[in-house]
Amino acid sequence: MKIKEIKAYRMLQPFVDGPYKMSKGRHADAFDSIIVALTSDDGVTGWGEMAPLGTFYSAAFAAGAEAGVKEIAPHLLGLDPRALTQFNRRMDIVFKGHPYIKSAIDMAAWDLTARAADVPLVTMLGGSDGDMAELYKVVTHGTPDSMAAHATRIMAEGYKRIQVKVGGDVHGDIERLAAVAGVVPKGTVIFCDANAGWTPFQARQFADASRAIDYVFEQPCVTIDDNMSVRRSLDKPMVLDESVETLEALLEIHRRGAADGVTLKIARLGGVSKTRQLRDLAVDLGLLVTVEDTGGAEIDTAAMAHLSLSTPVERRLHAIAFHEWVTVRTASNMPPVVGSQMGVPKGPGLAIDVVPDLIGKPFLQLKA
Ligand SMILES: [Mg+2]
Repeated sequence: MKIKEIKAYRMLQPFVDGPYKMSKGRHADAFDSIIVALTSDDGVTGWGEMAPLGTFYSAAFAAGAEAGVKEIAPHLLGLDPRALTQFNRRMDIVFKGHPYIKSAIDMAAWDLTARAADVPLVTMLGGSDGDMAELYKVVTHGTPDSMAAHATRIMAEGYKRIQVKVGGDVHGDIERLAAVAGVVPKGTVIFCDANAGWTPFQARQFADASRAIDYVFEQPCVTIDDNMSVRRSLDKPMVLDESVETLEALLEIHRRGAADGVTLKIARLGGVSKTRQLRDLAVDLGLLVTVEDTGGAEIDTAAMAHLSLSTPVERRLHAIAFHEWVTVRTASNMPPVVGSQMGVPKGPGLAIDVVPDLIGKPFLQLKA
C-alpha cells in the first residue's frame, strides 16, 4: 500500500461559548484547525486534525502548521502509511522538530491503517477498557461570580469533573476557586489549572490559602524544577501538562516524583504514535494519564477518545469533548457523548465519517 494523494485544509472553528479565557489575558475565539487527508493507492482515506489554542498555549500556531505541512507532504507520497514507525522516522528526518506540524499527518496515517485493516483505532492502540470515558469541562478565567455561574451550568449538565482556570493574580484566584467550590456539589472533582502562570512563591501562596478545598493542582509553574519546588511543600495531588513535551520530560517527571499524573496532548507530542508511546510508558510507570489535545473538532476528538479508552481505566483521569466546543461540524458518526461520558463511534479507524463539503477547499493537494 502506498500514499497516492495528500490533501490539507485549514478551518476556523468558533467556540460555542465565546472566548476561551486563561489567566494573564490569554484568550482565543476559535480553534484554527489543520485537517489532513491521506489516500492510499487502493482508495482508502485516513483523516487527521491539529488545532493549536491560539498562539499562546503551546509552541505552535496554525500558519506554521499550514506552512510545515506543505514542506513535509511531498516527502510522504509513495510511502506505506501502515509502516507507522518508518513513516514517522521519515517525517523526523526530512523536517527537524516542530512536532505539532506532524500531528495531523501521523493521525491520518493511523486512521488509514486501521480503516484498511477494518479495525477500530482503539483496538490498534491496545484495546478498549470499558465503553465510556469520564469527561471534564473547563471553567474559564473570569470574575468569581461569572466562574461560579459557569460551574453551576456545567453541574446542571450532569458533569462531575471541572477544571478551574487560575494562574493570574493570586488573591483574586483564591476568591475564584472559593466561589466555584462554594456552588458545586460535594464530591465534584476539581482541578486548579494555573497553565504555568505562577512563580513557586505565588503557587505556594495559593496552595496555603486554599488548603481546606479538595482539588488537584495542575501545572502551577513553567519548569519541572519550579513545579518540583511547589510539590515539596504541597499536600495536594499534582498533575503536569505543559511540561510533558517529550519522552525525556516524562522520564524526568517520573524520576523526580514531580507529579501524580500527566496530561498528554497529541499535537504537542507530534501525533498518535508518540502519544501512544508516552501513554503506555506513563501507565507502566504508575502515573495517572489524561489524553487530550490543544484543539480540533470531530476528527481530533475521535483520536482523543480512542486513546483515552485504550488507557487502562485505573490509570485514566478524564477526557474532553472538543467537538461540542465549536459551532461547526466536520463529520457525522461523531464520538457519542452521553451525560458526562464519551465513547468512540462504531466502525474501523477513527470511525467518524468526515464530510469534505463541510471543511471547504484544500490549501494543498498533491498526487503521486
Ligand atoms: Mg492543563
